[in-house]
Amino acid sequence: MSRSIPIELVSASGAATPRDTLARPLRDLRISVIDRCNFRCPYCMPEDQYAQDYEFLSKDQRLRFEEIERLAHAFVALGVRKLRLTGGEPLLRRDLPHLIEQLARIPGVEDIAMTTNAVLLPKFAQALRDAGLHRLTVSLDTLDAETFRQMSGGRGEVAEVLDGIAAAERAGFSKIKLNCVVMRGVNDGQVVDLVERFRGTGHIVRFIEYMDVGTVNQWRGESVVSSAELIARIGARWPLESLQPNYRGEVAERYRFSDGAGEVGFISSVSQPFCGDCSRARLSADGKLYTCLFARTGHDLRAPLRAGANDAELAGLIAARWTQRTDRYSEQRAELRARGEQKHVEMFAVGG
Ligand code: SAM
Ligand code: SF4
Ligand code: SF4
Repeated sequence: MSRSIPIELVSASGAATPRDTLARPLRDLRISVIDRCNFRCPYCMPEDQYAQDYEFLSKDQRLRFEEIERLAHAFVALGVRKLRLTGGEPLLRRDLPHLIEQLARIPGVEDIAMTTNAVLLPKFAQALRDAGLHRLTVSLDTLDAETFRQMSGGRGEVAEVLDGIAAAERAGFSKIKLNCVVMRGVNDGQVVDLVERFRGTGHIVRFIEYMDVGTVNQWRGESVVSSAELIARIGARWPLESLQPNYRGEVAERYRFSDGAGEVGFISSVSQPFCGDCSRARLSADGKLYTCLFARTGHDLRAPLRAGANDAELAGLIAARWTQRTDRYSEQRAELRARGEQKHVEMFAVGG
């Protein structure tokens, strides 16, 4: 533990928030609580790449809730203010509301959000809300039943997701973000229907450019539909006006409908990379710190944690890794792909 730094130097005041080699602070932490999923979306975890013997993490390999809480404390001491729970499918992790309760008690945590495919929300939405979850993002790629089956790898029904959203509304969640990954020739013909369904509800549909994450989705640039194309298409139906970001580093470009029916967002990580403001760290379910969605390897925090590292030592390890961070994959995509550098952590391991 020779790299440890005293915890008082990195207090919740944020005075010593580490900055990476491009002067980006550490602000957000995405916590993957499980690598398993009840869907097999072709852009993330395509069924045909997962032989029956594919080994997901065992219970012992996954961080326990107390361990996640310890690490979250260390990240918050370094300046993290926002936590997002993700997966795999986070609601497959047993007792998740209990973890949320523990995280919500950490002084300095201002926001806890979760990204989910929503199928299990009818069962858990109220408990999640009561536990202190502030915000929900639901993934929903299409309203068309057949396309939805295709985009969930034959595992999901769109009606279940809509039931999940309704359950979340009843539990008190509002302004739900609805993430839609757009793939050319698959669901790009259905984006207007999705917008129409949620205009005026207060929820915010966000279109995500299909990314070359992981190694298994056989990504091809031709399948990406740029945000510019979608903005033109949606704007032709309902005039749109560009909005300022809510905060520096917000990943979605915001637009409002000129008729006042709400907002729509576009996440353009392929056509307009936003690495310059990227302040997100990712913790995998087995306790590895990834400093980029496209990182090849993670930095193991589980071993020092289980070996008895104290809070200051854990914060020191995280700070040391963050200060060495050079990642800006999306800005270098063309160059790195041309060099054949395409080995990245899988999306379902770090959760987007
Ligand atoms: N299972 C949960 C869900 O789908 O909401 C949480 C984890 S999932 C990996 C998080 C987000 O990553 C989802 O909104 C999903 O659509 C997005 N995602 C997965 N693979 C992607 C890809 N290749 N390109 C863009 N977004 C992707
Ligand atoms: Fe599962 Fe989410 Fe990946 Fe789809 S995007 S396979 S729901 S982890
Ligand atoms: Fe952040 Fe990496 Fe995405 Fe760039 S490519 S925005 S550094 S996660």
